[in-house]
Amino acid sequence: MAIQHALCEFVFAHIPYFRPAERPKPSPRQLWGEWVGLMLPAHCAISIVLVTIGFLIEEERYRTAKKQDLPSPQRMLLLLAISRLVIDIAFYIVHRALHIPFLFWCIHARHHEHQATGLTTNFHFSVLDLMLESFFPVFVAFQTVELIGLPANRFEQSVIACHALWYEIGSHCGKPVPTVSAFPPLRPLLTMVGLEMEGGQNVLYHETHHALRRCNYGITPWIDYCLGSFRLLSTDEKGEKLKAGMGGVGAKEMLQQNFISKKVQ
Ligand SMILES: [Zn+2]
Ligand SMILES: [Zn+2]
Repeated sequence: MAIQHALCEFVFAHIPYFRPAERPKPSPRQLWGEWVGLMLPAHCAISIVLVTIGFLIEEERYRTAKKQDLPSPQRMLLLLAISRLVIDIAFYIVHRALHIPFLFWCIHARHHEHQATGLTTNFHFSVLDLMLESFFPVFVAFQTVELIGLPANRFEQSVIACHALWYEIGSHCGKPVPTVSAFPPLRPLLTMVGLEMEGGQNVLYHETHHALRRCNYGITPWIDYCLGSFRLLSTDEKGEKLKAGMGGVGAKEMLQQNFISKKVQ
């Protein structure tokens, strides 16, 4: 979070925010309250779950996994790719469910109080929401790689979890920083085939979810392309819906358009 803040405010200070006027600007007192009310209990709950799993289920495997703490690059890439796929699907299912009206108002509405995002939006969750959206998909990924015979050791788990959290936190930057990539090792290739947007537009994708709400339920865009729920805020007319599907007319051109050079009103 601190690194993302430094990137947004210093390294990429020249990149304008999508909607500077609507960006959340909580006071230090509000931020402290949100941290104590959200991050502290969420981290405690997640730690209790992880420690319980570690002691009761994974102790034996952990002991053996410690011997192979340094993974080969190919194995790490494979684990990252499988995890990306699983995290994306698990996130989509959970997040889509959280938009069912009853669950939305019970669990997810607090997060959507920020109709424009900023890094502080990462503090603006209910505890259950944060656990379901950030912890649960990563946990499913760990279990999946284990099920298919590629159990991740602690180092690999840390890399997978760090990248997933980096991407999710970065999705709330509120400006198109180019360091928010769904799969950094293959980013140029993914951008070329239209599976990743150029110039940090992954952030605009989630910004659009906060602005319009009934679209972009995934954490990365590809599921929404496939299911037809992908939208991007227009760069010149706030709130205008631009629709694209995987094979849709002009989809690739739209995805490859340089949104950075134009300012969202
Ligand atoms: Zn949502
Ligand atoms: Zn969000």
